[in-house]
Amino acid sequence: MIVNDGEISEILKSAEAKTPAEIRAILKKARGLKGINAQESAALLCTRDKTLLNEIFETAKFIKTQIYGNRLVLFAPLYISNICFNECVYCAFRASNKELERKALNQEEIKAEILQLLRQGHKRVLMVAGESYSGEGLKYIFDSIKTIYSVQGGKNNIRRVNVNIAPLTVEEFKELAKYNIGTFQLFQETYHKPTYEKLHIAGKKKDYDFRLNGMHRAFEAGFKDVGIGALLGLYDYKYEVLAMLQHIKSLEETFGVGPHTISVPRVEPACGSSFSENPPYAVADEDFKKIIAVLRISVPYTGIILSTRESAAMRSAALELGISQLSGGSRIDPGGYEGKEAVGTKKEFKAAQFSLGDHRTLAQVIEDIVAHGYIPSFCTGCYRLGRVGKDFMDLAKPGLIKIHCLPNAMFTFAEYLYDFAGGPLKAKGFALINKMMADLPPATQQQAAAKLEEIKNGRRDIYF
Ligand code: SAM
Ligand code: SF4
Repeated sequence: MIVNDGEISEILKSAEAKTPAEIRAILKKARGLKGINAQESAALLCTRDKTLLNEIFETAKFIKTQIYGNRLVLFAPLYISNICFNECVYCAFRASNKELERKALNQEEIKAEILQLLRQGHKRVLMVAGESYSGEGLKYIFDSIKTIYSVQGGKNNIRRVNVNIAPLTVEEFKELAKYNIGTFQLFQETYHKPTYEKLHIAGKKKDYDFRLNGMHRAFEAGFKDVGIGALLGLYDYKYEVLAMLQHIKSLEETFGVGPHTISVPRVEPACGSSFSENPPYAVADEDFKKIIAVLRISVPYTGIILSTRESAAMRSAALELGISQLSGGSRIDPGGYEGKEAVGTKKEFKAAQFSLGDHRTLAQVIEDIVAHGYIPSFCTGCYRLGRVGKDFMDLAKPGLIKIHCLPNAMFTFAEYLYDFAGGPLKAKGFALINKMMADLPPATQQQAAAKLEEIKNGRRDIYF
């Protein structure tokens, strides 16, 4: 059993009664970077006192800095198709929605989209599609991945393709694994089975268990990095977080490693979905921050992704709470990067999955990140050197990520600054890189300085 309802109810019942001293003892334990147990996570989730909440936020930030340093990985979603056979009540892509303009990009159109992303400076793409591809139809998905990797834009190309598509059978996963993808991402939406069955009315996605077992099948098929998530707003967030922790535990017990990433999407208004305008368990901003912080504290070594569903202000606030990956300059309608219409217009909404909260360009997102003292990273080094799955976690655990990932972040950011940034950002960016150099161990410092010189001289795609 992956999700144990009875256990979640029991844990939540006892969690409410914790005293401030008990909460502080949990936070002290968390600073040891070994994670906390489900009872302790529940106690933090039930905390409402403002002072204690601030202490939770500070602990999350401490953990994030210890493990990840001040780097943030950037990516862009690429929606290749909004055609879907399912009926998820919250999603604009659902089959019965007549208001949506349908489109599946052909390979030439995908190339054009990737060229646009490369022109912005992106190196990592999350490929997304509605569920209308299975069996022979999966060829479209495979061809699209090949196309994305094949595009060369000047000196640049996409170096990692992650994928968010419907769950596959073990045999299909084995096929997908041949296309060199990074993370396979799949959100359970809600872990609460009765709610799941109410909100997924028709199509293959109706099958709760097939989806819940999806990540186990992906690991079984040989995947090393998977990304989980819950769509917040469908059911009680405390239940969702505890169930997500049970999902992680089950993966760890079965395969020796948990997910590479967790996503925390909140339901956003979607064209033709009245449900999405007013979700029954809408998560308030303060609770949303608490969710991110509790996840960071509970599973310190797992990346947490925040998309452009969130506003610029929330994304800035979340940087301090443990987010490790952000999307930037996103369009969520197939063909959106090539589209002539401005972000946020009626046309975008008509073909898009939901409405965006952050309409800034990648350059603006990067300026904001740098202003907060974080270094934007486009690094794909670990994945390409085979440091994935358990190897990545073993590296992450003793804090060694800082020795590999911080220099790699600096290299990819330096590339960005030389190839894409305007004068003021360039100056601020290199000032940040120089400041960070001082924090590296002396041997790493020397190596990093030599690599940065090579990048200055025109070499690209350097990593440790
Ligand atoms: N169709 C596949 C599936 O459902 O797994 C993969 C892609 S689907 C486009 C990606 C995710 O978008 C879903 O898993 C869901 O969590 C999220 N999503 C759908 N409707 C949304 C909405 N109105 N607001 C925010 N996120 C939404
Ligand atoms: Fe289709 Fe995925 Fe949207 Fe559901 S969430 S309607 S499966 S695209």
